[in-house]
Amino acid sequence: MRILQDYNENEIKDILLSLGEKSYRAKQILRGISSGRKLSEITDLSKDFRNILTANYYDLPVEIIEKKVSEKDGTVKYLFRLFDGNVIEGVLMKYKYGNTQCVSTQVGCRMGCTFCASTLDGLVRNLSAGEIFAQIAMVNADLGGNVDDRKVTNVVLMGSGEPLDNYDSVIKFIRNISAKESLNVSPRNISLSTCGLVPKIYDFAEENLPVNLTISLHNPFDDDRKKLMPIANSYSVKEILDACSYYFGKTGRRYIFEYSLVKGVNDTKRCADELIKLLKGRPCHVNLIRLNAVKERNLEGTSEKDARRFMSLLENGGISVTLRRQMGNDIDGACGQLRRKFLKSKEEGAL
Ligand code: SAH
Repeated sequence: MRILQDYNENEIKDILLSLGEKSYRAKQILRGISSGRKLSEITDLSKDFRNILTANYYDLPVEIIEKKVSEKDGTVKYLFRLFDGNVIEGVLMKYKYGNTQCVSTQVGCRMGCTFCASTLDGLVRNLSAGEIFAQIAMVNADLGGNVDDRKVTNVVLMGSGEPLDNYDSVIKFIRNISAKESLNVSPRNISLSTCGLVPKIYDFAEENLPVNLTISLHNPFDDDRKKLMPIANSYSVKEILDACSYYFGKTGRRYIFEYSLVKGVNDTKRCADELIKLLKGRPCHVNLIRLNAVKERNLEGTSEKDARRFMSLLENGGISVTLRRQMGNDIDGACGQLRRKFLKSKEEGAL
């Protein structure tokens, strides 16, 4: 069995021709599955042909199994079941300019960041391009949208998983979702967040996709960063910055640093001074967020007051910086938290 959403229009044409169907039907199929419809609901196709397709392809690789709406800010957390029973999560954030969906790129993660819930059980498996795509098609449909009336306007690859550790599927996903006959989400409205797989950042720069590159920095000092993020043992901050400059040279897109503030760990004046030294004059922006404490980890988020103080230090040092709201923290908004809760309650027989 294959996943239909893995394919672009030309590939679907080839499938159709190999099955003795007319290639123009590719558009109907692509529009249907991109709108979150099952093959059985695409009634332009003959019943017999729909049966042939469903015997060979999953048309609904991602199914919404739970939805939690934040009473604070309207953020929606989704739990999805994959065709093999694995569970992943995603978040929909409502902003004035549109809806941003945060998608997962892997089941679990093998990067081992100490503050992140997604990585607690390691990597289970990569998602295919179609499984990443279908998360958006399903949420778009859940909001009443389709290919002509797009409710999800922006996408961030910031759910569970390390996108650059699942490189080929992620690139294919970006190309597929930005196709006109599909959901038509421009790469400029897509952000890819990485913990800093430097060689892959160089590869990504060559793809000719003007995606917003976001780096999870979290500490400007290599030795301290290693304590938070094992990937720092492989690549230094300097190597990351060089890769970012290369990315900017190729795409013209300014890059963003994610910086999750951990109380007493990376919220000191010394860290702020070093960030200013490293980042001043670069075409970049710093996104601060207070760490969302994860029960299993012994790290606390910086207080609101100290986060504001840290932000002022950066601002005064000439850095473009914002302090993000902690959206949906009443509904387990941090990466991997909802999935863990779900898996745990299943173990305990509550579901
Ligand atoms: N693997 C990618 C994308 C997934 S994580 C990456 O590392 O960038 C998305 C962002 O959430 C990253 O910046 C990550 O460091 C951050 N994050 C993970 N757990 C968090 C938590 N408990 N509180 C705040 N930010 C967290």
